[in-house]
Order: sequence, then C-alpha cells, then structure tokens
Amino acid sequence: MYKKRRRVKKKVIYLGSALIVFIVLIITTIMLIKHFTSNEYKLEKIGYNEKEITNILKLDNKYINYALNHKYDDDLIKLTNQKWFIWDKYKEYKKYIKDLEDRPAEVNYKDVITKVNTKTNYKYYTHTKETNMDLGNAILVNKYYSLPKQYAPDNVVDIPATYSFAGNQIKEEVFNAFKEMADAAKNDGITLIVNSGYRTYEYQKGLYDQYALENGTDFADDYAARPDFSEHQTGLALDIVSYGLNMDNFAGSDTYKWLINNCTKYGFILRYPEGKEEITGYAFEGWHYRYVGKDLAKKIEKSGLTFDEYYAYYLDR
Ligand SMILES: [Zn+2]
Repeated sequence: MYKKRRRVKKKVIYLGSALIVFIVLIITTIMLIKHFTSNEYKLEKIGYNEKEITNILKLDNKYINYALNHKYDDDLIKLTNQKWFIWDKYKEYKKYIKDLEDRPAEVNYKDVITKVNTKTNYKYYTHTKETNMDLGNAILVNKYYSLPKQYAPDNVVDIPATYSFAGNQIKEEVFNAFKEMADAAKNDGITLIVNSGYRTYEYQKGLYDQYALENGTDFADDYAARPDFSEHQTGLALDIVSYGLNMDNFAGSDTYKWLINNCTKYGFILRYPEGKEEITGYAFEGWHYRYVGKDLAKKIEKSGLTFDEYYAYYLDR
C-alpha cells in the first residue's frame, strides 16, 4: 500500500513538472511570436533606433504603416511633427528635400512644409491650375492658382465717391462690408478710400502686356499680375488708402494701423503681409485687402498664416 502511494505521488510530481515546463514553453513561444511580429521588432529591423520607434508608434496609424512598408526614412518623424504637415503631400516633401542642393546637415523642415504647401518650391506661374470656384469668397488666386479664363464676377457695383476715387467698382457684398468698415473707421477719425477695386481681364492684360513689351516678362511679373492671376479680377480685393497717403508712406500711417487691427471684424484680411513675400509672391502691400467673409477672416487671423498657407492646409482638401 505504502509503496503504491509513493509511486502515485511520484507520478503526480512528474506530470506536474511536465505540465509546468509545457506551459512555460507555450508562453515563451507566444511571447517570441509576439515579439517577432511586433511593430517594434519590424521597425528595428528596418533600421530605426529605440527613440525613433517610440516616436513613430505615437503617430497616426497611416504613418506607422508607411514606416513599416518603406525603407528607413529619417525625415518621417521630423516632417510629421511639423504643425502644418499635410500627409497627401508627403512624396512632394521628400522630393523637395532630396532635390535640395547640397542637402544641409539640418534640413529646415518648417520651410519645406511651407514651400511645398504653397507651391513656392516651384517658379512663379509654373505648375499652375484653375482655382476651385466653388469656394466662393474663399477662392485662392495667386501666381499658381488662376481664375477661369477671362473670368468676370457677378454683382459688381460702382463704389460711391464718398468711399472711393472715381471709377472704382467691386462686388456688392464686398462693398457692403467695406462701407460698414469705413463708417466704423470714420468714428475713430480715420478715412478709408478705395484706390483700386475690381479690375477686368482686359485691364489687367493691357497693364501686363505694356510692362512686358517695354521691359520684358521678368519685369512685368515683378510689377503686375498676369491676367486671370490677379486678385483684383476676382472682385474681392481692394486697395485701401486715405487722403495724403501713398504707397511709400502708407505702412507708417494710422490708417494702416487701424486697418490691420480692425479689418478681420468686417471680413477682410491683409493679403500680402510684411516678411511673407516669398510665400505670397508679392512685396508687402499694406493697402491691399482681400474680402473672405467675417468667419474666415477671423480664423485666418487666428492661425497666423498667410491666406496661401491657410488655403493649402484648411481649404484645398
Ligand atoms: Zn491691390
């Protein structure tokens, strides 16, 4: 009896140990499979270091998938971390970086994003396309986005002499907004006068062709927009001045100060700000205001972006 019980006990111990070994083996196998199929392992195999892997795994799934299915890409994290990064433009960002002459040790990723987003990585008037007219007051017209051929807006009205030098016209909605703004400015002792409003295709063509004829297209491109590429042809842009002010003394005037502090309340934005010449393609023009509507004007102001950048990130998608 005693011997038999001992034998049974031995058997139980033996089976128990075998079971434990078996379980440990299973768990180890599962863990190994898990490890070798994990994104961490795959990314490590591709060549990312521990810190990079941690950063990649914090990104959106589509970026993780990109990393998993491509060769080691040291621009991925730096690009995706940029505030105005647009995923659809990833290939263009990469191409731009690759084409940089003597790639610098420190790539200016912010600059890469800005240039590619606004197409300013290309020469003016190249890679142009017709702007999306469905956007109404939010259409973008610059040296890459044109109006439809020989476009002329509807509802253009004459601006009365109280608000404008003679002969200026603008879209009715824009005039109403301008009137509201000019009346408010008047209450603050500031007189706003429209110097230029809607310009027809023919007018712009005549202006551009004359410059080009006299001094060549490079000169013409510096001083006038090409027809169908001028914001004035949209009927949404106004050059606003005041008596006694001209292009040279406008930026230092109280009128300019009042305009930049108040214009968004009435739906206007300063279209070609100082220091953003490379992005907008235009010299700083303190007098040129673009109507986009009140909501959008406030959003653009809040973003701190030029309209060209804002358009790329928020409107062209
Ligand atoms: Zn203008």
